[in-house]
Parts: sequence; structure tokens; C-alpha cells
Amino acid sequence: MNSVLNHLDYYRLPWNLADNSISWLEPTFKCNLACDGCYRRNENESHKSLEQIKEELKVFTRLRKCDGISIAGGDPLTHPEIIDIVRMIKELDIKPIINTNGTLLTKELLIELKKAGVFGFTFHIDSKQGRPHWKNKNEIELNELRYHLARMLADVKNISCAFNATIYEDTVQYVPELTKWAQKHIDIVQVMVYIIYRAVNNNKVDFYLGPKKIDMGQLVYNEEIVERVDIKAQEIVDEIRKSYPDFEPCAYLNGSEQADSFKWLISGRIGTRDKIFGYVGKKGMEIVQSFYHLWNDKYLAYAHPKMTRTGRSMLILGLIDKSLRKVAVNYLKNPFNIFKKLFYQTVLIIQPVDFLDDGRQNMCDGCPDITVWNGKLVWSCRMEEQMTFGHNVRTYPKDFLN
Ligand code: SF4
Repeated sequence: MNSVLNHLDYYRLPWNLADNSISWLEPTFKCNLACDGCYRRNENESHKSLEQIKEELKVFTRLRKCDGISIAGGDPLTHPEIIDIVRMIKELDIKPIINTNGTLLTKELLIELKKAGVFGFTFHIDSKQGRPHWKNKNEIELNELRYHLARMLADVKNISCAFNATIYEDTVQYVPELTKWAQKHIDIVQVMVYIIYRAVNNNKVDFYLGPKKIDMGQLVYNEEIVERVDIKAQEIVDEIRKSYPDFEPCAYLNGSEQADSFKWLISGRIGTRDKIFGYVGKKGMEIVQSFYHLWNDKYLAYAHPKMTRTGRSMLILGLIDKSLRKVAVNYLKNPFNIFKKLFYQTVLIIQPVDFLDDGRQNMCDGCPDITVWNGKLVWSCRMEEQMTFGHNVRTYPKDFLN
């Protein structure tokens, strides 16, 4: 285990602009919550028509291979035609994944969405969402809600379940417990994601559109910043290691401007509800991505729950991957373990845009969450700039051009 992460020790995911594991569709900008970290303007009358959505899907299929589409927003469950949207994506032979805060999900709706072909859900749940009935609850108290949603999916069967939590300066402390909670439910939770809070930081850079200085105060995500906006993936790994000293990533996406920054940092752990036996290594992840691509002509992000329930079958990759060999040894130390099912679970850390000292904006190289705006592929995290100014703004160190 390396205490300081070195990107050269890990597998650089082959995801890129034209050939990626996922893409990002926003059928609406309407949401029924107002999360602190949200970068999209909440607009009530913003549902796109099925015709508009079809056009956006055409842009994706013309420009980009992808295995899954995250249906996001806004909250996509506010869209009255969400079932048709899921069906349209499924008909393109792409996995529909709904990114939602979960407040509008009922068992009846879930069953309808499953019939339409939904592959999975990513539930965004954290303590800065102002959820009715969950106000002033901390991350740990919110586990009750996470469990309720994971259980609902598990009861309907074979729907992938992922959780996102935006991580702020004052919630970093909960990361070890959240990671333990995810292990406790490794049988029904396939992915746990920590998204580090980012906001436009006006103390470091000025924003320009051509020669014109821009007041970024017009953008929704430019609120008065009190929290730290420089937490890095390394810090989250250090937190996780307080509960799991052996915790080790296997793959990453670097920054577009900084090769050794971790924008997406992925770990795959194998274990049971009681014990983690170890982690997938870089070779194991490379084999999975390469074979999946050879077979399906696409890269993989969301594995089917049937696959993640067969953690044991991954041990065969131990022939090539020494980390998985270690998992096999740990597992077989106790022969009675062979009666226990092994599960695979992903822990993902996302570190969105960083401003470098020279003013450059360090984006996720090979952005999986790219979306469509006016027929173009644009970063979803900076689409407000496209919507407000028609372009992405450029940044320079504070007062550099004065
Ligand atoms: S560049 Fe922005 S939209 Fe793309 S993956 Fe990173 S945070 Fe998400």
C-alpha cells in the first residue's frame, strides 16, 4: 500500500471523448431539493420534450460510444415522461441509469421503470440537501434513508444501486463511517461515490470571455464560499484508510492539465458484509475494461448486480493480478469461507475542476459526464457557462490582465 498516491502506480482508464463508459443526459433542470453543491439552476418549466431528448441522444450516438447514460438534471423523476425516456435509451442498447435524490421514487414507479429497462440508480444523498423530514441529520443518520432506497431496489431485484455524497470540509469526517456502511450492505450496494465539493473560487482567478472580464456572480454555483474548495482525492483516501488501512485504488482519470492529479479515482473491493478480503489491482481493472471492450465495443462503468454478486469469479484474474492473488489467499485462509458468497463493490472519488496557479482549469481528462448543449458535447459541470454566456469562460490568475 502506498500512503501517498502516485498515478503511475495505477491503471489509467482508457475512457475518452469519443469512446467512454457513460454519458450524461439532462431531461430537465427542475429539482425538488436545493443542494448546497449543485451547479445547475433549478427551473420549474424546464422539462425537455421527448423530441428534444431524442435529438440529444442522436448527438451522443453520432459522436460517442457509451455503455450507459446517466439520466440526471435537475431531478429526472420530476419529468412526467421519465418512463419513456428510460425506454428510449434502452432501445438504443445503452444502459439507462437514473441519477436522483430519490424523494419521488416509489415501489410502483420503480417497477414501471424496470419494465421500461432501467439498469440502475445513483442516489445523491448528503446532509446539505435540505431534505424535508431529514433536516439537521448528519451523514450517518442519513444511512437509514440510504438503506431504505437500497432495500427497495434489492426487493425489485437486479437493479444496480449506487450512492453519491458530496463531501465538504465539515463532512470529510464521516467518510470512514460511510465506507463502513457501504461494506455492511455490499450485497445490495454496488457503488459508493464521494464527490468533493467544488465552487467557483474568486480569490484565485478572474474569469474572461474573450477580452471581457466576467462577473461570475451570475452563475448559480458562485455562492458565498465558506468551505474549503481545495480538498483532494488523496485526503479522502487518507480518511478511508482510517477504517481500512489496506484501502487501495486501482484506476484513475487524470486531470486535463495536470497528469498527476486524480479526477476519478476508482477502487474495487471484494468481500462480504463482515470482511473485506482485498482490492482489485491495476491489472485486474485493465483486464476487465479490455475484455469488456473487446466483447461489447464499449467500456464498462456500471456492472450488473448479477456480476457483482460473483466476486469469487474475479479471483481467477489473480493469475495476472497480484492484488487479486492476495484476495484469494485471504479468502482461502479459512476453508469455511468457500460457503460464503463474495461481492464486488466500487468506491469512487471524484475531484471536479481545480484552478491551477497559472489560472488553467484542470478538468477530468476523458470526462464521463459530458452532456449535450446546442448540439455540442460540453462538460455538464460547466454547462451553466454555456447557457449563460454561450461559451466556457477562461481563467487567469487574479488581476493578471490588469
Ligand atoms: S469534467 Fe466535470 S462533468 Fe466531466 S466528469 Fe469531471 S466533474 Fe463531471
